Amino acid sequence: MEKKSILSVKNLQKIYKKNGKLQTKAIENLNLEVKEGEIFGLLGPNGAGKSTFINILAGLVLKTSGEVNVWGFDIDKNPRQVRASIGIVPQELNLDPFFNPRKLLELQAGLYGVKKKDRITDTILKMVSLDNQADSYSRGLSGGMKRRLMIAKALVHQPPIVILDEPTAGVDVELRKNLWQNVKLLNKNGVSIILTTHYLHEAQEMCDRIGIINKGKLVALDTTKNLLNRIEKKKITLKLSEKIDLKDNELETLKILSLNHKELTLIYDKNRLNIDQILNYVNKKNVRIIDMSTDDGDLEDVFVALTNN
Ligand code: ADP
Repeated sequence: MEKKSILSVKNLQKIYKKNGKLQTKAIENLNLEVKEGEIFGLLGPNGAGKSTFINILAGLVLKTSGEVNVWGFDIDKNPRQVRASIGIVPQELNLDPFFNPRKLLELQAGLYGVKKKDRITDTILKMVSLDNQADSYSRGLSGGMKRRLMIAKALVHQPPIVILDEPTAGVDVELRKNLWQNVKLLNKNGVSIILTTHYLHEAQEMCDRIGIINKGKLVALDTTKNLLNRIEKKKITLKLSEKIDLKDNELETLKILSLNHKELTLIYDKNRLNIDQILNYVNKKNVRIIDMSTDDGDLEDVFVALTNN
């Protein structure tokens, strides 16, 4: 069965104008679709248009042209239904320090017009592991707890889609892991996730599919797996019994990245050379291979190639 489209964007454009004059083309002819149940990552260097895109979805920025459809609702015709379908976790922590988590969630639910009997405050607090802090002032919460509370706030109206804008910018490693566990749990519970991040490793680990934008244009849109398959260069490191005499390109596409004592690191094009050829070649030089490791490259390689950053 074909999965439901939760976000469909067609020919989206955003041009910021100043005094009626064209200033910046922040988004140019963007087309993409996100399916129900996905964790979709939007990546791009600074100024690519990520915030503009999210702000359009959130109803904070008006698009110049194009169509945006969220959970089956057109953003122009049904802006309220669009707003009700998404929960946004913004970049900045904006929590009133004088309220406790329970009160904050209740206020937020009120803001979204969720009736008292329909509220699931305790369930949400449990889900983000803040049930023990439900009645503590939020100013006393740790950084991690505050981040989780931000996610909780986005969930009060039980949106089927949650959008996280750079959720881990400036957050330490331990906290990040914890945050991602929460996001994965949300996703397991059936919530579709759209996120932007600078951390390519994170996107690689978290996302089913990734869109890469650069200067407002989509430069790649594929499954994380397919994007990683685009990497042509492979790295291999060999520990050898003695120092080897080897030159660049002695074997087609083979380059020496480093050669220190008995450790040799090579880069090669995996479509043109295979590992057997390399090992045979090294063996012919009368050195023994004591140990070996390979590195397939990561999303960063794809990203750099596509954005020239
Ligand atoms: P990102 O979130 O990927 O860093 P942004 O969406 O913030 O990118 O910015 C995309 C482009 O639009 C940039 O060139 C930025 O300078 C420009 N821009 C963003 N917001 C405004 C604004 N309010 N007025 C004018 N230009 C803007």
